[in-house]
Amino acid sequence: MVNPDEYFQVVAADLDRFAEVPDNVLLEIVTTDGACMWLVATDEEPEWPGEELTDREAAAKICAGCSVRRQCLELELRTAGAETLGVWGALSEEDRRAVYTVWRARRQGERP
Ligand code: SF4
Repeated sequence: MVNPDEYFQVVAADLDRFAEVPDNVLLEIVTTDGACMWLVATDEEPEWPGEELTDREAAAKICAGCSVRRQCLELELRTAGAETLGVWGALSEEDRRAVYTVWRARRQGERP
């Protein structure tokens, strides 16, 4: 069983493969292939009748099956950093902030 801290380390390490990818390329990938882009385009709120979802649950539902989750997460960490809000990259903002701390340290050469 992976504890949360180990999980955030694993996610941040997985993002290393995008370190050299320019922002505009990531943006193109996410806006072209992101599973939620229909929501952004139509400004619709998804409805799950009878359900009060936490951010983590909403992230899991909205991002389920999205093929560009890691690219989305990388872009969000770069652009919003610790100020990240909402559901991006299949993670709640609380989880993204935890990943951001590790991700930033890795990018600054503080790899474990
Ligand atoms: S990971 Fe989630 S928020 Fe990001 S593009 Fe995919 S569906 Fe949208």
